[in-house]
Amino acid sequence: MTDNRKNLIGLSRAELKDELSSVGEKPFRAKQLWHWMYHQGATDFAKMTTLSKPSRLKLAEHYRVSRPEISREQRSEDGTRKWLTKFDDGQEVEAVFIPEEDRGAVCISSQVGCSLTCTFCHTGTMKMVRNLTPGEIIGQFMLARDSYDEWPTPQGGGRMISNIVMMGMGEPLFNYDNVATALKIIMDHEGLSLSKRRITLSTSGVVPLMQKCGEDLGVNLAVSLHAVRDDLRDVLVPINKKYPLKELMQACKTYPGSNNARRITFEYVMLKGINDTAEDANELLRLVKGIPAKFNLIPFNPWPGSQYECSSNNAIHRFSRILNDGGFSAPIRTPRGRDIQAACGQLKSDSEREQRVRKPATIQH
Ligand code: SAH
Ligand code: SF4
Repeated sequence: MTDNRKNLIGLSRAELKDELSSVGEKPFRAKQLWHWMYHQGATDFAKMTTLSKPSRLKLAEHYRVSRPEISREQRSEDGTRKWLTKFDDGQEVEAVFIPEEDRGAVCISSQVGCSLTCTFCHTGTMKMVRNLTPGEIIGQFMLARDSYDEWPTPQGGGRMISNIVMMGMGEPLFNYDNVATALKIIMDHEGLSLSKRRITLSTSGVVPLMQKCGEDLGVNLAVSLHAVRDDLRDVLVPINKKYPLKELMQACKTYPGSNNARRITFEYVMLKGINDTAEDANELLRLVKGIPAKFNLIPFNPWPGSQYECSSNNAIHRFSRILNDGGFSAPIRTPRGRDIQAACGQLKSDSEREQRVRKPATIQH
């Protein structure tokens, strides 16, 4: 049976107050409820013992506090966990948790599918279906916390679910308002209380929203660069045709809050014979001049039907060395969860079964 009660997860504090007053509850209940939902992780009104019994009953009659349904959970041999999450309308996205020794990052999706068509990305073969709501975005983080039973929100350090990367399915800056509402709730000190320093938003380069993102949210920025020349980037990351490298680099230069201690991460997927020469690496150094930058070299993760190959180890190490010699940190990302298709760019749900036909990428050198 479908539950038609409204889910309170994802409402801003102001919206929650309005919602409660619409059923005759006092505004201060919002603060109590916030604590139960986001600090204690409670999903059952009956357990919210600081609320009066009649309030608890009334709330349960109108509302629910729920997570997305988990259609499937997979665990990789390296400890990575991947959840296929299902929302009320049946749409699905994937969320991934990548554990380190005593901490780890949840990789969160922002859209069902993606409207962009980066040629090396599995999500890019899906049709764009819809934006996720704030509650659906936060829900992915909360179910990772459920999975490690990390409630109430640990104070200070010592959290397993310690970071968020907005690097799942979709382009977060194309769903800016919902992503911003969700991240503000996640950063709220009386709730999930995750510091902006522990949140990284990855964009393919939606230039007009980068400044706003830095000003409103102050989170770390990662930019999916992948190419140093416009003709190649036009093919790999087609949004480049709209916002070419020059504009993108200018927006990075002025990204609010970035400095030498908080650098912009440039993600660079290593594609054999496409973007991995020493010349490319040297050009990259020229491109980021004047930007507090670090790099993240991502070995290409293949997916069924993909047209590219991963660069050789030698090529990747040579690339990394050139960037290091230029004074930049350029770690090579170890692929995680490849055995369960949970690595970068491998996420895809069956929400949209009709696939785009992929033309092989051709590029004139
Ligand atoms: N849409 C956003 C965020 C999600 S993608 C963006 O593009 O930035 C997260 C990262 O994985 C991006 O840098 C993306 O370019 C990279 N990626 C996509 N497909 C990949 C693949 N097959 N192998 C390795 N990295 C990939
Ligand atoms: Fe969308 Fe990012 Fe994949 Fe490009 S790399 S298709 S922007 S999810």
